Amino acid sequence: MSKIYDVIILGAGPAGLAAGLYAGRSRLSTLIIEKGQDGGQIAITDEIENYPGQIVDGESGPSLIERMTQQAEKFGAERVSDTIKEVELEGEVKILKSEKAEYQAKNVIIATGAHARPIGCKGEREFMGKGVSYCATCDANFFEDFEVYVVGGGDSAVEEAMYLTKFARKVTIIHRRNELRAAKSIQEKAFANPKIEFFWDSVVEELFGDDILQSMTVKNVKTGEIRTVEADPDDGMFGLFGFIGTVPNSDVFKGIIDMDERGYIKTDADMHTNIPGVYAAGDVRIKSLRQVVTAAADGAIAAVQVERSMSDYF
Ligand code: NAP
Repeated sequence: MSKIYDVIILGAGPAGLAAGLYAGRSRLSTLIIEKGQDGGQIAITDEIENYPGQIVDGESGPSLIERMTQQAEKFGAERVSDTIKEVELEGEVKILKSEKAEYQAKNVIIATGAHARPIGCKGEREFMGKGVSYCATCDANFFEDFEVYVVGGGDSAVEEAMYLTKFARKVTIIHRRNELRAAKSIQEKAFANPKIEFFWDSVVEELFGDDILQSMTVKNVKTGEIRTVEADPDDGMFGLFGFIGTVPNSDVFKGIIDMDERGYIKTDADMHTNIPGVYAAGDVRIKSLRQVVTAAADGAIAAVQVERSMSDYF
């Protein structure tokens, strides 16, 4: 029989690590299960400049998350690297199963985050890692002095486009409308950057190349005009980065926990899901602002709710 934890936290991004810190500090027996590297989406974020009180100038996602991990561990949260494939959440003891183990807890905080949404053009899968990427921090250096295209018009697309200008000689943002969704302060920096150009009202249709990405068709959604973008002959290829929002990592809970049609989990303001003892925190839940600071706040709230539910004091 495996140990029954007070709380198991799924995911070690800002929400999960903040929950781990608060749960550990409340002396709850706590296990954090993470399948990959800590940090979730901020592990691949080059610069964070809006986390209140951050102490490092030019803070990167990995540097911030490293300190969050240390802080959660300092207060006793246990850690395991595993992927949960099946869950039984209805009983008083929740059971989480991976291929190699079974974990048990009185409470579960789901902080599994979200991942990049695919661009949705033909040939996208074929050219993944051969020109197509969803992570500028991971892949920008492959495009040193090349031309790069970025799909999207939100904060991520515009910020990552600016980061890519440190490597690529030209970055073209392809956006399906004629105005950006990104915050005005971010837009201003992009419009002032001489290396950034725009294809407005445009979507990528299809990718082509001989093993690597060498050309693509881009459609103007207003006029219907299709233009073919070719790699500079001296380069022989170009990069295409997709930043068009996220998809929640909630598949394992489908049909078990209430969620919206896109798979984001429904919670109340205190992070309770429809199942007693099961909470959701961070980007995986329905919310209006997905930021590090709101994810960390969600995690803290969820952990405090667990503590209160287990304490006679409240
Ligand atoms: P987002 O805000 O949802 O923006 C997605 C962008 O992709 C939008 O411009 C959208 O176009 C476009 N798009 C969506 N589906 C598309 C499709 N199928 N084809 C082409 N374009 C498509 O996503 P995000 O930029 O990843 O940001 C996610 C969250 O993180 C947001 O809350 C954002 O504020 C936050 N974030 C904040 C920061 C920061 O504060 N520094 C940095 C990064 C992210 P439309 O505009 O036409 O809808």
